[in-house]
Amino acid sequence: MSSEVSEQLESVEEIVLHGVAASPGIAIGKVLLIKKDGIVVEKKSVEDASAELDRLQRSIDRSTYELDKVYHTAFEKIGVDKAKIFEAQLLMVSDPIFFEAIKGRIVREKKNADFVVDDEFSRQIEQLRHSGNEIFRQRALEIEDVKNRILRNLAEAKLKSKFEGTPIIVTSELTPADAVLLSRNAVLGYVSDYGGARSHASILSRSLGIPAVVGLKEATKHVQDGMDMIIDGYRGVVVIQPSEGSIKKYSDRKRWCEQLDSELLSEASEPALTTDGRRVSIEANIELLEELPLLKPHGADGIGLFRTEALIIDADSIPDEEAQYQTFKKAVEEAKPNAVIFRTFDIGGDKIFVEDHSEQNPFLGWRGIRMMLDRPELLKDQFKAILRASVHGKCKIMYPMVASVEEVVRANEILEEARKSLTAENIPFDKDIEVGVMIEIPSAALMSEEIARHVAFLSIGTNDLTQYLLAVDRTNELVANVFDEFHPAVIRTIKLIIDSGHSAGIKVAMCGEMAGNPLATVMLLGMGLDEFSAVSSVLPVLKKIIRGTNYKSARKFARQLLKMDSPEEIKKVLAEYLKNRFERIYYTTISEESLDYQI
Ligand code: PEP
Ligand code: MG
Repeated sequence: MSSEVSEQLESVEEIVLHGVAASPGIAIGKVLLIKKDGIVVEKKSVEDASAELDRLQRSIDRSTYELDKVYHTAFEKIGVDKAKIFEAQLLMVSDPIFFEAIKGRIVREKKNADFVVDDEFSRQIEQLRHSGNEIFRQRALEIEDVKNRILRNLAEAKLKSKFEGTPIIVTSELTPADAVLLSRNAVLGYVSDYGGARSHASILSRSLGIPAVVGLKEATKHVQDGMDMIIDGYRGVVVIQPSEGSIKKYSDRKRWCEQLDSELLSEASEPALTTDGRRVSIEANIELLEELPLLKPHGADGIGLFRTEALIIDADSIPDEEAQYQTFKKAVEEAKPNAVIFRTFDIGGDKIFVEDHSEQNPFLGWRGIRMMLDRPELLKDQFKAILRASVHGKCKIMYPMVASVEEVVRANEILEEARKSLTAENIPFDKDIEVGVMIEIPSAALMSEEIARHVAFLSIGTNDLTQYLLAVDRTNELVANVFDEFHPAVIRTIKLIIDSGHSAGIKVAMCGEMAGNPLATVMLLGMGLDEFSAVSSVLPVLKKIIRGTNYKSARKFARQLLKMDSPEEIKKVLAEYLKNRFERIYYTTISEESLDYQI
């Protein structure tokens, strides 16, 4: 390279953006920017409504053809369950009632098809967006995807879905269809302005093994086609126009991560036993059946949290008892001989049951067990589905968003009704099925000893517990810096819950994100946590840390940490510990420092 060129390159400032780590892995490559903001819909009067109806029909036919292709690709690559998202979109484009309404308006109002399509779809999308509910926001994204497809086909424009080379895709919003369609090329990674770690597109990226960083707000504004880019899907970092130093640092990091991953996987089936003989359980959080094949290779001691509400996203409605049973049965059979903890639907503030229902503060509203207790028939159906699955392996039941002892007692009564119905129908089930409660609301934390007397286990949900203890919306980017699981108030509350459970003679688990954070492992172990449940990919890391730790020393360490009054101090001390004892884990998952460590 000539010195002039290298000087020019040196003079380009790299830009580092921080977003949400949506799918692990490191990618280094060139940007391919996919613009989506180009669809401008004009309102026009038309003389010939029938010509508009013909245009609309052509667009619907083309969209159906495209979606059918996406569906089949998804089906082949990631399995039938995840392909269902596109089946739902296919149903949308062939919904005769919805399109009759659009066609009726075109004829009556003599307006162009583009305008009426945009208007009708946008109304639905806005309603869902304002519901304040994550599930409906996901649904809004899917409907928006269908709308854009129909509008694009009305304009007879083609989506660029085939390209040369091995790019990193940068786009404002990654839809599930994008995640699958674009993966037919040699894509290195996905980067988007919007989206969360739990969006469908993120889940699909993880299944497809494509590193992704989402929620970067303005990534598309900073890039052009062909720019160099690094993405770190472990920590949610994107580097645009990286310096030679950054390229070297991340190339090394990529190598180390891959090497560490394969080493940890090779010992993942060994038990999580401390050097002085305390055994804890390391379990997986799952949402969809496609994650089941990851359990065994990652050494999961069962499923500590099955978020059953994910079935509603997939099925697009609440699945009936039989459909739930079929899904639960598969999970139970795969996890055998270990147990699966099915959490009852944790949905809230929604419009499925009450027309025009909306809430000012959905996080403080009709959510989790509150909603299910108001809809006992739904809860009973779900109990029956879980109980029926319990003859195929070991099942447990867990209630989310519990705030009081009464809710547990009432839910247990409904469970008893479900048992009686099955007995009357001569349907077998595990009579000793264990029931547990998530502790994620401060009132439940304070009452955890009383709650523990009614159940067989507790599981700490640090995502919500942190949100409610610190009064910080877990989805609000403006206060993201205040959301801190290492706040002494959160840590002391966790200790209180663990001690309460143990006083009542039952085990205490954790299934919030903190359980999968390697920085927290030694502290949680030392506080006496019995079970850790986290996304499968991190389980071998947790096991490695636990196997290299002395329980007695961890207890002493935790006592010191519990006395500290600053989250920063707690994190600093924990980071030092990890760096000294598990250097490679520290450098691959936590550290922002540049590395000079070699394998
Ligand atoms: C939690 O709140 O920590 C939890 C595990 O539940 P969710 O993230 O599904 O609300
Ligand atoms: Mg929760």
